[in-house]
Amino acid sequence: MSTVFALKNRVLLLNGSNWEPLAVISVPRAINLLLAGKAVVIEQSGQFLQTIREQFPVPSVIALRTYINVPRRQAHWSRKGVLVRDNYTCIYCGVQPGSLAKGKPLSKHDFTVDHIFPKSRGGKDTWTNTACACYNCNHRKGDKLPNELNMKLKWEPKTPRTSYLVIAIGTGPDAWKRYIEIHKD
Ligand SMILES: [Zn+2]
Repeated sequence: MSTVFALKNRVLLLNGSNWEPLAVISVPRAINLLLAGKAVVIEQSGQFLQTIREQFPVPSVIALRTYINVPRRQAHWSRKGVLVRDNYTCIYCGVQPGSLAKGKPLSKHDFTVDHIFPKSRGGKDTWTNTACACYNCNHRKGDKLPNELNMKLKWEPKTPRTSYLVIAIGTGPDAWKRYIEIHKD
């Protein structure tokens, strides 16, 4: 609960009414928005910021009181972004870091980016053509299409709003992750 640590924390800012993630902001900026009455606390971090006169609970997630219209930006594709978007879960068999494969727990290094329509056949580096896969499934699939091997996608890969937010939320506290789950389109 140290003040210095709390100041270094980041706060997830959501839009009003639909709770769409807008940005990751600093604690002072979040507190300013709260004090100005422009935002409300959605989740607390459990930490406190001590000033000379007062003690502020440090939020983890806040939302604007009103909805603001933000133009949709196309997220820049990246391998890391795909892995974080999919939370290191294999789109074919569903294993995750910690799942057992041949008696050993998998780590994040056991996952790669799979091109659903293979690159060798003209598949592109796009959000909708790529997904996280474990090495087993990626190897098994090779240069085939999933339906040629009777492999099913567990979900439909979607374009996230911004790669920045996907990375930031993916590396942030667990409490943030549910907000990107809702807004993968
Ligand atoms: Zn797999």
